[in-house]
Amino acid sequence: MSRRGVLAGGVALAAQSGALLAQSTPAQSKPAAPGRKFRGWVSRGNGPGRTTLQDLTLRPIGGRQIVVRTEATNLCYSNSSDVLGLPMPGFGPPPGGNNPKNAPPRNIPPAFLAMSRMALIQGHGGVGIVEAVGPEVRRVQVGDRVCVSGTPQCGSCYQCLRGRADMCQFLGRQGPSDLVPIADMRDGTPVYANSHIGGLAELMVTFEEWVVPVFTQASAVDLGMVCSCVAVAGLGCTASQVLAEVELGSTVAVVGCGPLGLSAIQGARIAGASRIIAIDPIRVRREVAVKVGATDVLDPNVEGDKLVETVRKLSNGPTNRLWAGGRDSGELLGGAGADFVVEAVGADRAKPKLEAGPDPTGILPLEQAYMMCAPGGHIVTTSLPTGSITLPAVVFTIGGRTHHAGQYGGANPMRDIPRFVQLLDKGQFDAKSLATTVVPIEGMLDAYQQVIERTTITAIMTA
Ligand SMILES: [Zn+2]
Ligand SMILES: [Zn+2]
Repeated sequence: MSRRGVLAGGVALAAQSGALLAQSTPAQSKPAAPGRKFRGWVSRGNGPGRTTLQDLTLRPIGGRQIVVRTEATNLCYSNSSDVLGLPMPGFGPPPGGNNPKNAPPRNIPPAFLAMSRMALIQGHGGVGIVEAVGPEVRRVQVGDRVCVSGTPQCGSCYQCLRGRADMCQFLGRQGPSDLVPIADMRDGTPVYANSHIGGLAELMVTFEEWVVPVFTQASAVDLGMVCSCVAVAGLGCTASQVLAEVELGSTVAVVGCGPLGLSAIQGARIAGASRIIAIDPIRVRREVAVKVGATDVLDPNVEGDKLVETVRKLSNGPTNRLWAGGRDSGELLGGAGADFVVEAVGADRAKPKLEAGPDPTGILPLEQAYMMCAPGGHIVTTSLPTGSITLPAVVFTIGGRTHHAGQYGGANPMRDIPRFVQLLDKGQFDAKSLATTVVPIEGMLDAYQQVIERTTITAIMTA
């Protein structure tokens, strides 16, 4: 079967019998209104101006496809290059680097080039109401409220079966040859949905694997925030316990307090950490960090080379008497350092208008995050830095730190997203402090400008 066939194809369910199967025979199976019109931000070509608001006509759906009427979608920083037509970090000239201003992009993979020529609705997540489902869909019904998850979960691939739904292999099925046209522009140009999601539109056309039903009365903005890729990843690293567990009474350091780091702080608080050290160059973000659960905040520009040492001191605990459960501050085999570190910095995609961090590539904070972790501790990395890291080899080999890398902070979407929505509903997760810009669909580009300049924590587009 072709790659596109993996998603679009499939056969109708064979004869069904028994209550369970009958239940999944979708009375809800209902095609979307033929010729349904909607608006969507379509990106194509290169440079600023590549994304424009277009009137679109929905194509018929089939198989496991689902049409979702968008309520809210998060404007993720990682998608900003594609939306605003900025050079991709690691491919184009680095922001603030020495390359000539108009140096041609380099090393761009052919798939990226092909995608840049397709008419693509960007956005890799969102929440909304199911408007139509294909005949094979079982997970949701028309009228359900859903999170369209940035990371899919099929439940049956090698990774899903081994408990690593964050690595579900459907994630690798969103290249140019996997995408299917979901709508047409007025001139007949076929339009595709980025990541099989295309959140920057009034309708999202996705597949069953990407959809998680959520049963809640939360507002669209709050729900859009807690279900965003960044909040799920932040809560995933500290509260889903797939990659590693935040222990009661432990010390957690969160390096980078964007929406992901601020969600990780909340997850650490909920998981029972007693000391939460938040590190970010932007004053406003440190203030929000305290509001959502940080006990200590550090400015990496002020700390400079002393940052790791300061975190170790803060993590020392009440005693250094080794016969009394104490820890000492030795760098290699001593006990001090954060028990659990979340790294959430990454590379700048444009120069920030608020306080810039010490390294626009995100490499220095990543190395510092590793070094501030206690021997015996865990570090979860979540960011998109550019370049290579250098660590003292002996710390890496026998230093006792365990590193975890995963999509979504390791979250298991079908299990964890409903749990995270519960945290919102019960007042344990503060969405409002993170969604600092809310715009209707027409305001998307302006809001993305705030996101890329880091003058807002994150932005939610409602549709
Ligand atoms: Zn994202
Ligand atoms: Zn899977």
